[in-house]
Amino acid sequence: MKKISVLGSTGSIGTQTLEVVRQNKDELEVFALAAGTNVDLIEEQIREFMPKVAAMGNEKAAAELKTRISDLSGVKVLAGMDGLLEMASDPGYDIMVTAIVGMIGIRPTIAAIEAGKDIALANKETLVCAGHIIMPLAEKKGIKILPVDSEHSAIFQSLQGSPRSRIEKIILTCSGGPFRGMKKDELAAKTPEDALKHPNWNMGKKITIDSASLVNKGLEVMEASWLFGVGPERVCVTVHPQSVLHSAVEFADGAVVGQMGTPDMKLPINYALFYPDRKPMNSAKLDLFETAALTFEKPDTETFRGLALALDAAKTGGTMPTVFNAANEEAVARFLDHKTGFLGIYEDIEKAMSTCRVKDNPTVEEILDAERQAREAVLKG
Ligand code: NDP
Repeated sequence: MKKISVLGSTGSIGTQTLEVVRQNKDELEVFALAAGTNVDLIEEQIREFMPKVAAMGNEKAAAELKTRISDLSGVKVLAGMDGLLEMASDPGYDIMVTAIVGMIGIRPTIAAIEAGKDIALANKETLVCAGHIIMPLAEKKGIKILPVDSEHSAIFQSLQGSPRSRIEKIILTCSGGPFRGMKKDELAAKTPEDALKHPNWNMGKKITIDSASLVNKGLEVMEASWLFGVGPERVCVTVHPQSVLHSAVEFADGAVVGQMGTPDMKLPINYALFYPDRKPMNSAKLDLFETAALTFEKPDTETFRGLALALDAAKTGGTMPTVFNAANEEAVARFLDHKTGFLGIYEDIEKAMSTCRVKDNPTVEEILDAERQAREAVLKG
């Protein structure tokens, strides 16, 4: 049995991970579950999967959970960041699925790697901010970082059997989100409700807004750069509205190898959990006869400035990707709260990037300090 811990079990990736576990109960066992505040759902999950450990990021929610499951013996309830770190460091499991949203995932991910655990990585913000710490640490510890993000899983699958030194470029596909083809004056009036209607994927709120602003694609360029050791300038974003080709690699000999499939996150989750096997899945299969033409466009980075700002942040390096990411997290929360408009997200990021000082090769503490500064810069207005 492979024992898994799910950091962020109540979210979109977390619940789909548990669906994969449900379909493979003879091979996968849930060791630990963690969430932020959703006590109702995690209680249900605990009663179904009976993990040894449950952690809640929110202390009050942890206290409530403890009371609710007091009839169950053998489930340890942990609270707060210390609880997430204790769960991540526990010797009792094999692989952690990092399905938490935001850069709050940095410390638990590092703790899991320190403890020698493989990582099925969905939480891209962690790699964007701390890739220079995480990648060398993973190598030193001899653990695998298996991408769960569909594009990065597609790239990882495309690389099987080929040397990374022969990558010419990475073709990172992008659906374009719900506002593809629109110009600034149309974007100015868009509400959170409009932005939450993604044409192809059903995801958590934050990543859905990031997909509409193309910030998500910018974060993914940085994620790909860390995962596959390719400079961001060789990660070529291509708008592909059908979301059939999940991404591809162009090799030195001109061959382009990609992975196609239906838009179903359970496939990359399944691949990460069973790598290098390809465990059968009982979900919809791609029918090429039903698939209309596949189209590819250049992204409009003048309108969707999230991507251009991300590339600037990647080029500057140091704490700048953290500033970009933290300012975006704050700006998206403000947008979801109707405190700023859609274009305000770009303005908030730009403001933070132009006011925060950059520190090269930052430690975790310096990353968290840059995060605080970026959030303050956004909130100051
Ligand atoms: P969701 O918002 O759906 O879920 C986030 C999860 O994180 C929830 O379980 C939430 O718990 C938990 N969480 C939030 N804050 C804390 C905290 N302080 N302590 C502990 N747990 C916390 O997000 P997604 O599943 O959409 O995304 C998760 C990550 O995966 C993101 O980094 C995203 O970019 C990435 N990703 C997502 C994809 C998708 O299809 N959804 C695709 C590719 C990547 P609670 O419910 O209690 O708030």
